Amino acid sequence: MGALDGIPADKDTVKKLDREHVFHSWSAQALIDPLPIASAEGSYFTDYDGKRYLDFSSQLVNVNIGYQHPKLIAAIAEYAQRATTISPAFANDARSEAARLICEKAGHDLSKVFFTNGGAEANENAIRMARLHTGRSKILAMYRSYHGATHGVIGLTGDPRRWGTEPHIIPGVVHFWGPYPYRSAFHSENAEQETERALQHLRDTVMVEGAQTIAAIILEPVVGTNGILVPPPGYLAGVREICDEHGILLISDEVMAGFGRCGEWFGIQHWDVRPDLITFAKGVNSGYVPLGGVVVSAPIAATFDQRVYPGGLTYQGHPLACATAVASITIFEEEGILDNARHLGTDVIGPELAKIADRHPSVGEVRGLGVFWAVELVRDRATREPLVPYNAAGADAQPMNDFAAACKQRGLWPMTHFNRTHVVPPCTTTEQEVREGLAILDEALEVADTFYTGSDS
Ligand code: PLP
Repeated sequence: MGALDGIPADKDTVKKLDREHVFHSWSAQALIDPLPIASAEGSYFTDYDGKRYLDFSSQLVNVNIGYQHPKLIAAIAEYAQRATTISPAFANDARSEAARLICEKAGHDLSKVFFTNGGAEANENAIRMARLHTGRSKILAMYRSYHGATHGVIGLTGDPRRWGTEPHIIPGVVHFWGPYPYRSAFHSENAEQETERALQHLRDTVMVEGAQTIAAIILEPVVGTNGILVPPPGYLAGVREICDEHGILLISDEVMAGFGRCGEWFGIQHWDVRPDLITFAKGVNSGYVPLGGVVVSAPIAATFDQRVYPGGLTYQGHPLACATAVASITIFEEEGILDNARHLGTDVIGPELAKIADRHPSVGEVRGLGVFWAVELVRDRATREPLVPYNAAGADAQPMNDFAAACKQRGLWPMTHFNRTHVVPPCTTTEQEVREGLAILDEALEVADTFYTGSDS
């Protein structure tokens, strides 16, 4: 009998065991009905009834290289023959090379990698490093952000996922508003004004909090789950200036924006701004084996040359995960995957979504870059009233649920959040596949249009 023979082969057993024994994240356990997935390949996954879905979500926006990439699978099998686990206390060839490659891609003076198992742990360690390096305690983070679900970084998170942990979150976190031209917290009328006012708001926040108490500002260079909020020109450079003026560190949370999502290795490179710390996970190896980390600039790394860094993880720099990162980065280069992501954004998704917006009154705005796009749905273009309320659930969420069901029925797996659908397929998706997915989206948006109440419908 093979060691894997016990894995059930039929949908009903998979589902039954899931319901009995698997405790799912972010869910009321009795109210969910997870779809059992039988297989996946390229940009598609297939259920046990043989229904194939084109994945416009990349799972949790992490399968940047697509499913079952043959070269990546071969690399995992090859490295598994050599080493499956070596503790972080030893040096390991795959870990050394993964760290070198990631630093090379990060550029500037980012010279060392502290590996973790995922994004939340990366942010935990980035804020710990920032606090110890600066000797200051406060961390500034944005409203409309997500930084992970562990106890420390859920406090950084600026969305409803934080509420369930309150008030037991770590002290010393202050939230501020980032730019969002379509729903400006600053009532701006154009992108230039938005940059100016968002930066003034950040300066004011730093002033009243006391610059000398602030260790770091953490931000997603392009806000991901909370709306694919692409910063207006000059914003990130302005944040860097504020940091430099006050000795505050800039942490770029690239967990979702990195490794091709924005058409660059790291999203912040789109604006040529230097971070002091980068956190990454997801796309570094598309989750084929869990991996995350912090890329550390030389001065911060030097703080811990003679002083013990008080943190570590049993599976840190896991050899199989690191080998998968080396292989994934190599495949990205060999196959021009960053170019493909840029091409899809500039020549296909952007122009096609603009046409879709023209056809559907319920589309308030489309925005994005690379393979990182949002379609923001509204009841009324004039008032910009969202198609569903903020954090809608139950009956309030019905318009978005109906829209998502229409996509799924037609074989497209969408990523919906609040009143938006995100277009976030793997970076390896072909132009033809993207066009097919957008055609389905176009049809399904007719469902959203039925909830439109504006007078111009
Ligand atoms: N940071 C960002 C921007 C994310 O999108 C996520 C996950 O979605 C995280 C951090 C947390 O990563 P993980 O779920 O791997 O802990």
